[in-house]
Amino acid sequence: MTDLFRALKIEKENDKQTVNLVEISENDLMEGNVVVDVTHSTLNYKDGLAMTGSSPIVRSFPMIPGIDFSGNVRSSEDPKFSKGDRVVLNGFGLSESHYGGYSERARVNSEHLIKLPENISNKQAMEIGTAGYTAMLCVLGLESCNVKPADGDILVTGASGGVGSVAISLLSALGYSVLASTGRLSETDYLKELGANSVIDRAELSEASRPLGKERWAGAIDSVGSQTLVNVLAQTKYGGAVSACGLAQGMDLPATVLPFILRGVSLVGIDSVMAPIAKRERAWERLSKDLDMEKLSKMVVETTLDEIINFGQSIIDGQVRGRVVVNIAK
Ligand code: NDP
Repeated sequence: MTDLFRALKIEKENDKQTVNLVEISENDLMEGNVVVDVTHSTLNYKDGLAMTGSSPIVRSFPMIPGIDFSGNVRSSEDPKFSKGDRVVLNGFGLSESHYGGYSERARVNSEHLIKLPENISNKQAMEIGTAGYTAMLCVLGLESCNVKPADGDILVTGASGGVGSVAISLLSALGYSVLASTGRLSETDYLKELGANSVIDRAELSEASRPLGKERWAGAIDSVGSQTLVNVLAQTKYGGAVSACGLAQGMDLPATVLPFILRGVSLVGIDSVMAPIAKRERAWERLSKDLDMEKLSKMVVETTLDEIINFGQSIIDGQVRGRVVVNIAK
């Protein structure tokens, strides 16, 4: 009898996209040298875009969404991995050109997998997810520019979102004073519980303003882009740095060069999808040491493969707080 398992499948016919929970077999999976029993995945902004079809994330149909997963190796043709190894995969084309994590089983390239640090469970790996791993890359970006806690506040934009929430938690654990920018001031208590020292209304940063403003923060982690990133740069202190990873407001950047040439501000680009393995391993290692997992689990909502589709539109509409973990085995 064929060994069937469940997966969420996006199909497109005559420009109409459908998403259904289906049963498939290993023969239906794409190429790779490691098969993983997926235990957890998560919901990222990009997953919302893929499931709703509101942006061309999926490059070939049919596709299994889910840009990341954690799980246990089921079989491996690469001696680097053995049955039972606990692994994580973020990006590398999952849900774009290769079947993703919303599936009970995945076949992938061993070069894209990382063994999880001992003290991070499969579930915790997806509580962190690509959002949290990206937040860590952003922190590493600030550190590479020598931004230190003593230099002043660090601004986090898109604060109630996935990247923002983990960034606040990480920065606070590392001793930084964190200023959180949010459109949801009703979440102030949540943001302070994560470690924010103060909270500002994102409206302060979202409109066109002067090319250079008062120097307010030593650094920033920005997941919003557009006019917000322009204003973030314009108010960064002399010699400071901004890690830019997202585009929740927009992908434009109507900036001037003044923050760079008059204040020596650095703009650090953050990409999690194609980041080399050594950088990923460093990020996961640092997450295992620097992140307060207990605090993290308080910002997590758990859902299942049957229910995840309902979250697609909510994350696009900016209504999801913190992190959503998909318990694939449930
Ligand atoms: P979320 O949707 O969880 O968070 C985004 C947050 O941005 C929202 O919660 C909201 O926070 C804020 N926001 C939403 N719309 C607007 C708007 N119009 N103007 C200003 N702020 C807005 O997404 P993630 O945290 O998962 O991802 C954040 C961004 O980072 C996305 O653009 C995503 O594509 C990108 N990303 C990039 C990666 C990379 O490799 N470079 C990896 C992962 C994510 P609040 O309500 O607090 O204002």
